[in-house]
Formats: sequence, C-alpha cells, structure tokens
Amino acid sequence: MSAAVLPTQPFGRPLEFLAGGSKQLYIDGQWTEACSGESFAVHDPATGRQIATVASGDAADIDAAVAAARRAFDNGSWSELTPALRRKMLNALADEIESHVDEISQLETLDNGMPLSVSGWLASTAPAECLRYNAGWIDKIHGDTPVVSSPNHHAYTLKEPIGVVGAITPWNAPMLVAVGKLAPALAAGCTVVLKPAELTPLSALYLAQLAHKVGFPPGVINVVTGFGHTAGKALSEHPDVDKIAFTGSTAVGKQIVHAATGNLKRVSLELGGKSPVFIFADADVEQAAAGAAAGIFALAGQVCVAGSRLYVEKSIFERVLEAISAHARALRVGPGKDSQTQMGPLVSDRQLSRVMSYIETARSDGAEVVTGGGRLGTAGFFLQPTVLAQTNRTMRVVQEEIFGPVICAMPFDADELAEIARVGNDTTYGLSAYIWTQKLSTAHKLAKKLRAGTVRINGGTSLDNAIPFGGYKQSGWGRENGREGVETFLETKAVTIQL
Ligand code: NAP
Ligand code: MG
Repeated sequence: MSAAVLPTQPFGRPLEFLAGGSKQLYIDGQWTEACSGESFAVHDPATGRQIATVASGDAADIDAAVAAARRAFDNGSWSELTPALRRKMLNALADEIESHVDEISQLETLDNGMPLSVSGWLASTAPAECLRYNAGWIDKIHGDTPVVSSPNHHAYTLKEPIGVVGAITPWNAPMLVAVGKLAPALAAGCTVVLKPAELTPLSALYLAQLAHKVGFPPGVINVVTGFGHTAGKALSEHPDVDKIAFTGSTAVGKQIVHAATGNLKRVSLELGGKSPVFIFADADVEQAAAGAAAGIFALAGQVCVAGSRLYVEKSIFERVLEAISAHARALRVGPGKDSQTQMGPLVSDRQLSRVMSYIETARSDGAEVVTGGGRLGTAGFFLQPTVLAQTNRTMRVVQEEIFGPVICAMPFDADELAEIARVGNDTTYGLSAYIWTQKLSTAHKLAKKLRAGTVRINGGTSLDNAIPFGGYKQSGWGRENGREGVETFLETKAVTIQL
C-alpha cells in the first residue's frame, strides 16, 4: 500500500490527527491494531488521493469490543454513575467537539467531501448540540405507577438501559449520525460499539480520542473501523449485542434484520428515501424553488431526506423548472475545502458511477436532461447538479433512491388532494415530504395523507434534536431524536408487590 500523502489544512498546516501512520481501533479504552493486522486506505473524494490508512477490524475485533462493552455495562461503570456525572460527561464531550471545530470540520470535509461551510455545523456544532440535548434527558428518564385493578397490589415500572448497543453508520454525515446514536444510547445508560462506514471512518476515531480525553470509563464507547460485510455483519449477528441502531440503505437494513434474529436483539433502522416535493401554484415560487434546490443539492444529494421527486402544479411548472435549473447552474461545485464551494464531490468513484448510470438510464427511458447530467473534471468525483424532466412513475429514477444531486420534475393538477397524495406515496419509501403552499388547509390536509415520517411545510425544519425523525414503510423502524429517540435504548420493567 502506498504511503498516505499527509493532507494540509486550508491554511497550510498539516492535519495532526492524520500524522503517525495507520489509525487504530478504540476498544476498552485503548488504541489497538486489528487482530488480523490488516488496514485499509481512506481517500479524499475531491482528489481521489489516499489520505490515511485505518485498521481493518473484523469479527475478532468486534468480539473484543462487544466483550469490553458488556463488561462496562455489567460492572455499572456507566449506568450506575449518578445522572449528574453522566450528564457532565456528555456535556464535556460536547464542549470538546466544539472546541475542535476546525479540525473536525476539516477532517470530515477531507474524508467525505462536503463543503467546509457545511461541516463546521454538521460535523461539530450539530453533534455537540445533540449530546447536550440528550444529556438533558438523563435525569428525566423514569417509569410510571400504573393503577392496579386489585387494591391488594402495587406496581411500578422502571426504565432501564437496553444493554450493549451496536451502532452502524453511513458515510454521508458521518459525525452527526454517529453522535446521533451514541448520545441517546449513553443517555439511556447503554454501552456502545460503533462501526462507522468504511468510506468515512476518520471523524468517529477523532470522536473516540475526545471521549478518551473526557474520561469515559473503558468499554463504554468502542470504535471498530472495518467493512460492512465483515465488522458490520459480525456486530449485527453478535449474540451478546442487545440492540443494533443502524442508519444506511434499505437493502442493508434488511440484512441487519435477518442477522438480528439469532438472539432477537432489538433493531432500529433509519433507511433510505425518495421524498416528494409539492409546489402549489399559490406558493411563493421563488422561495419554493430555492428550497427545492437546497433540498436536493445539499451534500450533493447524498442525504436520506433529499427531495428527489419534484411535483409542480401545472400552471407554474415551466416557471419552477426554469428557476430550479437556474439554481443548479449557479451552484459553485468544487473541493469542499474552498470557501466558495457550495457543492462538493460525491463520496467515491463508485457512487459517481452509480449516479451517472441512473442519469443514463433516465435518458434511455425518455427523460429530458434539462441541466447538468455530466461529470466535472477527472481528478475528484464531481458531478453537475442535474434536473430531469419528462419523467414518470414507471422510471427507475422516479422510484429508486439515487443518493446524488439529481431531481425529477413532474407537473400535477391540483384538483384532488387524494390523488396528489397517492402520487406522493407511490414508492416503497416514506421518509420525508415537502409541501409549498400558502393555503393552510391544503398543507395540513395533504400532510395528513402523506405516508412519511416527516412532512415539512414551506421550509419547516426536520433537523432538530427535539423533533422525532424516522421513516414509514421501507424507510425504517423507530424514531430518533426527542423522547422517542432515548426510549429506543430503554427496556421497561414492571415490578409488582402484593400488599
Ligand atoms: P449502506 O451501504 O447501507 O452502509 C451503511 C453501513 O452499514 C456502513 O457502515 C456499512 O459498512 C454497513 N454495512 C454494509 N453491509 C453490512 C452488513 N451486511 N451488515 C452490517 N453492516 C453492513 O449505506 P451507505 O451507502 O453507507 O449510506 C447511504 C444510505 O444510507 C442511503 O440509502 C441513505 O438514504 C441512507 N441514510 C439514511 C439516513 C436516515 O436517517 N434515514 C441517514 C443517512 C443515510 P461499509 O460502508 O464499511 O460497507
Ligand atoms: Mg473518504
């Protein structure tokens, strides 16, 4: 394997974290090589160059990490700390993340490709806030006192941590998704083995370094970098793991469900989407077009909630198509480290080929490429923001998750809300939906009919720690964020006594 070229920060200083050879696994509070001694290369998608090597953990390392997490769970070194101390530690980790915002955002940009203007928030501020939000739940988790039918009995319930959690995460928002699982799991009193995506493992290792500095007891947080078909599979099959919290594709989500049957571990799944955007003729058209453009081109469309099917009321269809195409053409696409960049590269050559093959399929199915559709440059994995028209429900680009900066625009008649909802619900997914209209009754009636975990009206947010997030249908099981997010890491115990 060729030696990694040490990348430099935008300001010319080397990123210290990447110095010193291959990055190790973090197990039981210690840094360690993979049992196999193997490692794999990590690349910068803006250049295709290798930036680091990380240890390639597999089943043996997962065994060690799960054993450490089990010991830490069983000895109560985390769950039996006072709530105040646990809260303090989660808040301390949040502070560490925030005070390293420059390094973390640069690392995430280098590894994933997202613009620095995004990674400062997505990889640092937002994860820190997520930790603080969940820290706030720690002393508010409690059971109930049910009214028992017999006067001679008393009962109460306890909310207890589920145990050892395996967290398996994707590459599109690596730090935020990892923390989005760690924070509620730790708040609930669980211990965690995190397996980040092979394409973007660096911020998870950085997080482990910060957690070590904060002083989490050994085994409470473990990070095993490795491949899905080795480390990920071993974690999801492991008989001593009590729950898998997974974010990723629907296809792998189904494999996780199968793997979990061995010990019937709990599974929560945040999966893919093919989210519809509805723009009605009475909407603020400029605002709606800008919102739709942001919703598909942010993170180069590699977003589970990307609004990838654009339905526009017939009378304003051409106007919106032109507006969103103008947004696409105006976007500054480039390396994430350039301050002018608005859209970075796709994460890998494989992802670039995948998205381009969808565009080719659309062309041969009869779609019109209104703007974009081509690769930019040859060094990194850059694609033009792409707007397709003349698409319809029979096409793969309208049914399948592309996970790239590609939007399919289609006109609709506003006569029948039930029919509009039927079109919106016409995929196997149900993650998110977007409605743009000035009419409150239209917005709320349609919101009710859509089978989606989040409905956002006129630019409403979904990324908020207090707002439950997850999918209907094949977009997932369970909800993250809010009270429900913590509860997925808890078991309920009923205690009864005869008086
Ligand atoms: P992916 O291929 O499903 O991988 C997700 C994670 O699962 C990675 O860590 C992967 O490891 C691991 N994995 C792969 N095969 C596995 C197996 N057999 N057993 C256990 N783990 C396995 O997804 P991705 O390509 O990284 O991410 C894109 C997908 O994530 C999209 O579908 C997107 O919609 C979805 N996503 C959903 C949300 C949400 O909240 N709903 C958020 C972000 C992304 P390797 O990478 O090492 O193979
Ligand atoms: Mg990378």
